[in-house]
Amino acid sequence: MDETCERYARVMARIEEAARASGREPAAVRLVAVSKFHPPEALAELAACGQRDFGESRAKEGGAKIAALSDSALEWHFLGPLQRNKARVIAGRFHWLHSLENLQTADALSRQLAASNARLRVLIEVNVTADPRKHGVAPADLFPFLEAYGAHPRMGLDLVGLMAMAPHGGSEGVVRKAFARLRELAGASRQAFDLPGFNELSMGMSDDYPWAIAEGATIIRVGRALFGERAPAAAQAP
Ligand SMILES: *Cc1c(COP(=O)(O)O)cnc(C)c1O
Repeated sequence: MDETCERYARVMARIEEAARASGREPAAVRLVAVSKFHPPEALAELAACGQRDFGESRAKEGGAKIAALSDSALEWHFLGPLQRNKARVIAGRFHWLHSLENLQTADALSRQLAASNARLRVLIEVNVTADPRKHGVAPADLFPFLEAYGAHPRMGLDLVGLMAMAPHGGSEGVVRKAFARLRELAGASRQAFDLPGFNELSMGMSDDYPWAIAEGATIIRVGRALFGERAPAAAQAP
């Protein structure tokens, strides 16, 4: 087995272990391979090991890789901050958006999707720790956001859940608390609003995905544990 497939097998084994330890089915956790800053060849190698979901955080870079791989069995996840004017690059190319945080972007996406007759699964990014340096809707603003979102139909968009990032370098207790908060917010949202299919929790990265699985993650976003470290200069970018 080559090095890429070995790393992949290690991550899959840890997913299985973490899921079983908390009484969950490993298949209930979707692994998104975060491939930002890596060339298309690296993605193709991982796809050859059996990986299907890939995550990118910049519209132009991601769009280029989707075109380069042109494998219809792959699913593409957009993870980065998304300006309204980039909606055109996302709609019809990516299958998932994890980082919705404003309604203007939802409107722009919906217009593009309606025009191309495509669909996009959308998660709202929540700033669970209310850190002013972080992206996402503040927990206190989530219900008003959901209310405004539901005020009119959003053609082409399927609102499927919530996404969050844990505090960087936090202890197990601190990180798990942030993940638990997201799970509770999703549960409260389902109770307060009519949200069919709102079942996804996107949380957990290379350093903390087993904890995220223990707290109910249905999607984990793993970069370095699959691809190795990103180039230092590139790692500074979002
Ligand atoms: C880069 C990134 C990841 C992956 O981080 P790793 O630490 O490399 O696993 C996950 N989610 C988002 C939103 C990212 O930008």
